[in-house]
Amino acid sequence: MKSLVAIVGRPNVGKSTFFNRLVQRRDAIVDAIAGVTRDRHYGHSEWIGKHFNIVDTGGYVQGSEDIFEGEIRKQVEAALTECDAILFLVDVEDGITHDDKEIAAILRRQDKPVVLVANKVDNHQRAADAAEFYTLGLGEPICMSSINGSGTGEVLDALVQHIPDTPEGEGTEDPWDGLPKLAIVGRPNVGKSSLTNALFEEEKSIVTDIAGTTRDTVNAHFNKFGMEFILLDTAGLRKKGKVNQDLEFYSNMRSIRTIEESDVCILVIDATQGFESQDLSILNVIEKNHKGLVILVNKWDLVEKDHKSMDEYKKLILERTKPFVDIPVIFTSAITKQRVLKGIEEAMDVYKRRSSRITTSKLNDEMLPVVKHMPPPIYKGKEVKIKYITQLPTHYPQFVYFCNLPQYVKEPYYRYVENQMRKHYDFTGVPMEIYFRKK
Ligand code: GDP
Ligand code: GDP
Repeated sequence: MKSLVAIVGRPNVGKSTFFNRLVQRRDAIVDAIAGVTRDRHYGHSEWIGKHFNIVDTGGYVQGSEDIFEGEIRKQVEAALTECDAILFLVDVEDGITHDDKEIAAILRRQDKPVVLVANKVDNHQRAADAAEFYTLGLGEPICMSSINGSGTGEVLDALVQHIPDTPEGEGTEDPWDGLPKLAIVGRPNVGKSSLTNALFEEEKSIVTDIAGTTRDTVNAHFNKFGMEFILLDTAGLRKKGKVNQDLEFYSNMRSIRTIEESDVCILVIDATQGFESQDLSILNVIEKNHKGLVILVNKWDLVEKDHKSMDEYKKLILERTKPFVDIPVIFTSAITKQRVLKGIEEAMDVYKRRSSRITTSKLNDEMLPVVKHMPPPIYKGKEVKIKYITQLPTHYPQFVYFCNLPQYVKEPYYRYVENQMRKHYDFTGVPMEIYFRKK
């Protein structure tokens, strides 16, 4: 599993500006074309060959101007529980504030690595001002300007010292012999525990708890109704109150880890509330990690409905998840147990689709005619010729289209090819990646 790094600090010190600098920009382009806005608090980053995931904790705070001290403290503590390293940002324009001292005190009391960053050091004068942050007791501050980019290299150099080399791909330390790993995720109170209990009450004896390797997690081995899988992190689900269920931010941080470990995520939403921005940010993490996805609209028993309701409801959800819309949506009730098993069956189907392989010859027989029929638009008077297609031997579907001028293939054409592939093959619930490479 990749290291998870949290950016912490009080509001307005420049966390999100820095975050945006670190994470890949391609998503922003994709979203601009799809005409959607995604809230971006989570992403991948890489520095001198080391890969890590990064969370902007500020992005999860609502109404950031007037959050009170206690709230910041909880956020920092939650980040510490789940993260491997911390980037602590302070603001040289303001100097040391009371909140900075509070955060520093929490960080000093624990042993996760902390990189202290003095932000907004846009010029030399300010570099001298930054020296005062040494008194926070977290070592020498590194000076940075997230706006003009200076100092970011030094910050990353310091950070990656604490980050282990990334093992290739997922599943390298799989203690479960390749069984599908499912995760039930979602905001607090949508019914995750109730669904888990409904599932396990069916037959208690078949459940074996397996202590998680890295965190205080409990995973359950399910083997019933012809389905065998590992359900990740059931500790927080079955023993209520053990974790901070009330703290949305905490459950988000915890979900991030669980999502990263999983193969397929079951994202539960509350039918009485609809698809909200918090649901979208969880979906965002699932998609960024290329995990399989099923959406469960739970508490369906509480919704007044006629025969059209499900279709309409599904349409509304997919309106929000654009551009990824090829997602199974199942309507459940944990109380009446309606379609709970169906949700799991669908997740198992997603697992199969995600691990399916299409042979090179099949791909070329079926997809080459499609792209030949509708080639990329002529660019600067040049014609892009696609020669052949192959699937990479990875954990999720990735396809390479070899051609003469890959740099002339633009984002809309990527979308077009993906849509065509989704029409030809069944990848429902499975994020995929398409590349154009020179040949
Ligand atoms: P957050 O609340 O910690 O996420 O802070 P933001 O990233 O939203 O930044 C708060 C304000 O500080 C914005 O107006 C930014 O443009 C500004 N800002 C961020 N980084 C820098 C910097 O390096 N130099 C200067 N001068 N301003 C910055
Ligand atoms: P979690 O925080 O996501 O684990 O949510 P819980 O499983 O604790 O459920 C939160 C509340 O919603 C509890 O009061 C449940 O009884 C209720 N609830 C959960 N699922 C359903 C459902 O399908 N229908 C109805 N009517 N209530 C539900």
